[in-house]
Amino acid sequence: MQPTFSAPSTSNISVRRGEPLVVIDHVEKHYGDLHVLNDINTVVNRGEVVVVIGPSGSGKSTLCRAINRLETIDSGTIAIDGEVLPEEGKELAQLRADVGMVFQSFNLFAHKTVLENVTLAPIKVKGMKKAEAERLAMELLDRVGVANQAQKMPAQLSGGQQQRVAIARSLAMNPKLILMDEPTSALDPEMINEVLDVMVGLAEQGMTMIVVTHEMGFARKAADRVLFMADGQIVEEATPAEFFSRPKSHRAQDFLSKIL
Ligand code: ADP
Ligand code: MG
Repeated sequence: MQPTFSAPSTSNISVRRGEPLVVIDHVEKHYGDLHVLNDINTVVNRGEVVVVIGPSGSGKSTLCRAINRLETIDSGTIAIDGEVLPEEGKELAQLRADVGMVFQSFNLFAHKTVLENVTLAPIKVKGMKKAEAERLAMELLDRVGVANQAQKMPAQLSGGQQQRVAIARSLAMNPKLILMDEPTSALDPEMINEVLDVMVGLAEQGMTMIVVTHEMGFARKAADRVLFMADGQIVEEATPAEFFSRPKSHRAQDFLSKIL
């Protein structure tokens, strides 16, 4: 089934499009001797779709994890919607609720139904009533084309369906931003497009997204900007058209020659 999209009734996206939403300023992180994030600076505006690409080990996942504080940073700041991410505490839980995260490996709760996977956080974190959370969940599952799977367990679904549930689950918190770390890398080839279609739909709707992916079709179609990372640094930042046709750095030229 092809996912279809309509503006969700509960969404606050597209509001104040264009203002800075994520401000990353002089961020540094080491793992022992490894300089995994080396002076990272960038701004992601509301409604912008940023694709992060680069060789394995360049720090892409660490950057994503730093943005919702699954990782600490050594120095610098990351601010989301004007609030600098705290180290810990209650504000951190709130900020994390504002940032959806979709991982390579789906990470659904295996012992809960698809519907429960989507309703859990709205009920627990936002205190939403069960009936309301279920109504919202069904709307979101319908948007990603898996409403008919709501009563199943995750293991009964294909990888592509599970990843679409994971996207619905992140949308259920009405996040200001969605981070996706290689969301299609673990999928069988025939399932990649059904997930990319959902991602393109979200982008077209104005969701702010930071997506680590090597799916150039998605980058060309949906990205406003590509960040190319190597050795913990943002080496190049350009529009997809510029980046893919005229990469400036040797690192980017070399990387693209291997994947295109
Ligand atoms: P990417 O997502 O671009 O492949 P990562 O951010 O996962 O890169 O990793 C960047 C580098 O940091 C790699 O060399 C990786 O081995 C190292 N690394 C990642 N997580 C840890 C950790 N928890 N402890 C030590 N080294 C790590
Ligand atoms: Mg990674």
